Amino acid sequence: MHIIQVAAEFAPLIKAGGLGEVLVGLSRQLSASNHRVDVILPKYDFIPLELLANLKLEIANFTTWENSREIKNTMWSAEFENIHLHLLEPHHPANYFNRGKIYGFEDDVPRFLYFCKATIEYLKIKQFPIDILHLHDWHAAPAAALAREHLPPTSIALSIHNLEHQGKCGAHDLIRIGLHDQRLKKFQCDQYPDSFNSLKGGIEECDAIIPVSPTYAKEILTAQYGFGLDSTLLKHQHKIRGILNGIDEILWNPDKDHFLEAKFNPSGPLPKVIDAKKKNQDSLAKRFGIKGPKDAPWIGTITRIVHQKGPEFLEAAIEQTIQNGGIFALLGSSPIPKMQSHFEQLKMRYKSHSQVFLHLDFDEELAHQLYAALDFILLPSHFEPCGLTQLIGMHYGAIPIVRSTGGLKDTVFEKTSLTKQNGYVFEGLEIPPFLEKITEAVRVMKTEPQRHAQIMSNGLKSDFGWEKPAKEYLELYRNLIRLV
Ligand code: ADP
Repeated sequence: MHIIQVAAEFAPLIKAGGLGEVLVGLSRQLSASNHRVDVILPKYDFIPLELLANLKLEIANFTTWENSREIKNTMWSAEFENIHLHLLEPHHPANYFNRGKIYGFEDDVPRFLYFCKATIEYLKIKQFPIDILHLHDWHAAPAAALAREHLPPTSIALSIHNLEHQGKCGAHDLIRIGLHDQRLKKFQCDQYPDSFNSLKGGIEECDAIIPVSPTYAKEILTAQYGFGLDSTLLKHQHKIRGILNGIDEILWNPDKDHFLEAKFNPSGPLPKVIDAKKKNQDSLAKRFGIKGPKDAPWIGTITRIVHQKGPEFLEAAIEQTIQNGGIFALLGSSPIPKMQSHFEQLKMRYKSHSQVFLHLDFDEELAHQLYAALDFILLPSHFEPCGLTQLIGMHYGAIPIVRSTGGLKDTVFEKTSLTKQNGYVFEGLEIPPFLEKITEAVRVMKTEPQRHAQIMSNGLKSDFGWEKPAKEYLELYRNLIRLV
């Protein structure tokens, strides 16, 4: 098959969260199964081009129209292993992708609408025989409508990595990239006719909608999780199929992870894993002046600090961890200045507390080191489409403590046989049950070491690779192709 992926992120080149990792993990697996995979991305000015082989100019000066303004673009191509990358460089007066970061600008919607428009122009020029056009999240979703208008009949899949972000806009934003009449209407919100929405247009126009876990696929049909799109999604329920993400085992392999002080084989003997984790803890403790009681459990997480991730729960976990004689370690940063400054204040408050380590930055290297050091990884998310953090955590020997929602519900199991338990799960929206779970997990670690070891081992041995999810995607792609 010839599969075209369109997205805003692709790890390790450009990553703000799970989206970039899914793009590389899925693409690697599809190309390993002998399919041709092309990925189209914006050419951000901070992509480390040295990671790309054979970067070359593919098409110079092709035209995109924004209203009546003619804009030229250059498409660059490069090989990333067996994946064909295409990097779109618009020569746009607003310097859409030359701003040092991926998101967080007032004109994010026009930036990505433009990206969709130019992507479709490019595909039109190339005349690829496309089997599947696979779009990811709101940044790429409008390309579905443009493809319907400008490309021959194509099977279009749309992955929903996070329904909270929808690319809300006005009609004028869509008209600017040439969407009118019936096509424009598909972007219109059911409840608020003056409001338009990039993701909604994609949902209406695509052939398959893929939320990133089976539980999330059901949750988004409800008002609680639907972020206003639940009624639209219900209308298109027949197109929805949840497929759980995997983790990319090249990005995340504790046996070959050059960031780690002590590497370990997750399927090797448990005492060796535990020994390596202790060394990784000692190394971080020395570097950052962290100190706790002997054999203190390391409890923490690696996260974007946003409402979704339950920051108030994480804050409450600091005191609980201290009370439980543990070390609390958080690596996180927030795109919301108020939230970032709140955590900066917390950091000041715990400045002289040697059991609390708050590192408020985005730091890939430290993330690897912390996964390998943590005994418990916290995900008290209000909602979680899939969550890679708990999967990476388990692969690195950190036992997850999670809310029962979305992909967390599909991957972390407590109330099952001991041979299957791989973590701790709490229900509901209150903080105390979460704190009780932390205390219970620490108690098991201290008083039932064999049970603790079994839970950790179950996580280490789980298969969260991309092989199985990629097979599901391929099956879905084949079904779509049959429909065209
Ligand atoms: P989301 O995409 O909602 O942020 P996921 O769990 O799917 O959540 O993926 C998060 C990814 O981003 C993980 O690989 C995690 O390690 C990484 N990450 C999050 N915050 C940071 C940070 N501050 N520094 C480094 N990596 C981070």
